[in-house]
Order: sequence, then C-alpha cells, then structure tokens
Amino acid sequence: MKMVLATGNRGKLREFRQMCQHEVVPFSDLLGELEIVEDGDTFAQNALIKARTIYEKLGEDYLVIADDSGISLPVLDGAPGIYSARYAGEGATDKDNLYKLIDAVKAKRLEQTPAYYTAAIAIVSKYGEYVVHGWMHGKVIGEVRGEKGFGYDPAFIPEGYDKTLGELDDDVKSAISHRGKALALAKPIIEMLQKKV
Ligand code: IMP
Repeated sequence: MKMVLATGNRGKLREFRQMCQHEVVPFSDLLGELEIVEDGDTFAQNALIKARTIYEKLGEDYLVIADDSGISLPVLDGAPGIYSARYAGEGATDKDNLYKLIDAVKAKRLEQTPAYYTAAIAIVSKYGEYVVHGWMHGKVIGEVRGEKGFGYDPAFIPEGYDKTLGELDDDVKSAISHRGKALALAKPIIEMLQKKV
C-alpha cells in the first residue's frame, strides 16, 4: 500500500519525513493543488476530513495520513486552536499569524503565557479509519526568537527548555513535539495496516 500525506504544508512534510522510516509522498505530487474545506469542530474531525478527501480521490491502493494541528492559549480561551492556520484571516502567512498571536499576548500585558500545541493524525485505508493525538506544553513569549521550525515556533518555548522552537534543532523538536508524539502512536497502526496487504 502506498503511503500519502494529506498536507500541502512544507514544514509538516519535512517533519514527517524526518520522523518516518517509510517514504512519504505529499498528495499534491499525485493530485496537484486541491482545496479541502476543513469545517470540523475539532482537530480530529479536520484530520479525518483531509484524509478521507484524499483517500476518496486516490482509491484503495493507498493509505492516507493527515495531520491537523494548532496552538492553544488558555489566556485567549483556547484560541487560535483549530483556526491556527488562518488566525490572521484567510490566506494569512505563517508570519502574519505569528505576529497576530504575539500582539494578542502583549495586549493582555503579558510577557509570556502558557500554551500548548495539539496534533491529531488521521489514518484512512481500506481497513478502516484511526485517529491519534499528541500534545506539547510550554509557553508563548512576546517576541520572536530564531528561524528554525515553522508557524508559531519562534515564539514557543517548550516546557523544560529556555529556548524557542525557532532556536532548537529539528531533532530536538521531533523528540518532544505534539506531532512526534502522535506519530509514535500512529506508527504501529501504520505498520499493522501495511502488513495486511
Ligand atoms: P493545519 O495545516 O490546518 O493543520 O494548520 C496547522 C497550523 O497550526 C499551521 O499553519 C501552523 O500555524 C500551526 N502549527 C501546527 N503545528 C505547528 C508546529 O509544529 N509548529 C508551529 N506551528 C504549528
């Protein structure tokens, strides 16, 4: 069974490739550009929407993996949460979203505040559908530090560290990240599904 990742996000693709032994192909290599309407109320629903949409287009020779993820700040009542990719509006860049989040933290007159990333990974194949989650806790600071990672990483300091994910190496992030933890749960499911063929 061929494994396809239902994402157009280069940062996610890079991290999946780094963490996964299998070859991971982005769906755009097979289907070109495709707009998927993510109108679920949870990370899990949106991950399933993405994976099902691609699976329905590719057919049962494929195992499709989708990640839906985002950052949540309790001080903002959980925002941006599932709206992380479009926090600064439709078509917003990672930088627009990052600076909007920093401005929101500063508007609360805070220099830092607790935050956590969530990743839901959905796996869809002819043998069924699965969803697993991973989380990474830490804090968001009122400034940008470093250029590694992607998205909100330059303003996020993971618990137990004093550097942002913009400053820490990719392999450090993979070992502690929401996506890394979700993928650790997804791996045995993927192995099991690959063996069924
Ligand atoms: P999705 O592609 O709809 O799941 O949107 C995920 C959004 O959440 C991304 O555009 C980023 O803004 C943010 N995000 C998710 N995971 C990460 C991460 O590991 N680092 C930084 N930002 C992330």
